[in-house]
Amino acid sequence: MLEDWLQFDQYKRILDIRFKIKTQEPLHIGAGKGVQFSPVDLPVIKYYVNGNYFPVILGSSIKGILRSIAEYVCSLPDVSIKTCKRGDCGRKYREFLRRASEEKSMVEVLEQFCIVCKLFGTEMFNSRLRILDAFPDIVKTEYRTGVAINRRSGSAKTKALYELEYIPAGINFYGRMIAVNTPNYLIGLIFNSFEVLNNGIFKLGGFKSRGFGLIKISDASVSAEVFEKGRLVSYSSDFGLSPLDERDTLVAIGRPDTYSSFIKAWENYVSTK
Ligand SMILES: [Zn+2]
Repeated sequence: MLEDWLQFDQYKRILDIRFKIKTQEPLHIGAGKGVQFSPVDLPVIKYYVNGNYFPVILGSSIKGILRSIAEYVCSLPDVSIKTCKRGDCGRKYREFLRRASEEKSMVEVLEQFCIVCKLFGTEMFNSRLRILDAFPDIVKTEYRTGVAINRRSGSAKTKALYELEYIPAGINFYGRMIAVNTPNYLIGLIFNSFEVLNNGIFKLGGFKSRGFGLIKISDASVSAEVFEKGRLVSYSSDFGLSPLDERDTLVAIGRPDTYSSFIKAWENYVSTK
């Protein structure tokens, strides 16, 4: 069976995955230095919603850290799945487009992609994952004043103080991702990456070496829309997500063990290579 889920021409399933992110340490996802009208030198990214500024964790930041963790998981000795150095899979795709007359279908080219690129996308190949920005349950940021260090001399510049804004530890954010035509084992890879993240090796945002950036993800829930021949046939509640290819495993949605079943599907995938 070809991995025909790699094509986007028809919906097979759309998963809506929601999860909670809790900051374990201060978190600084920067808006960039010198933002106009900000009295803070290093402000965090905020959105203006209904008269309030909400600090957010950008979906692209969440995607970035999950991609790094997925690459790390694949490199573990008991997993040992080759992933590309960034750009390799994109180059294959570009070459395919250049020789478009060749008798090779696009799916055959996409099948050669490493699973990280299949999941997170690469240059010219859209991700099947859309990760939305995560919003907090309370609006709270704090400030710390630091002394700018002259990188050349290593000495503190006189009067060169800066103010750093951050989200304190203990704040809950609500995250969401939409996965289109994604086999159960790749959702398992994402959940496995959540577990690795919770072990604290990977951190998010800036000032990591100064005790910033540790987060934990919990309370992941999945609802699904399943399509047959492009038509919606079932929605959410309690049913099975059938395998999308030979190495995929059925996962039942809406059960207490749904989360661990996705991780099991990933483990099955790893053991059948
Ligand atoms: Zn790749």
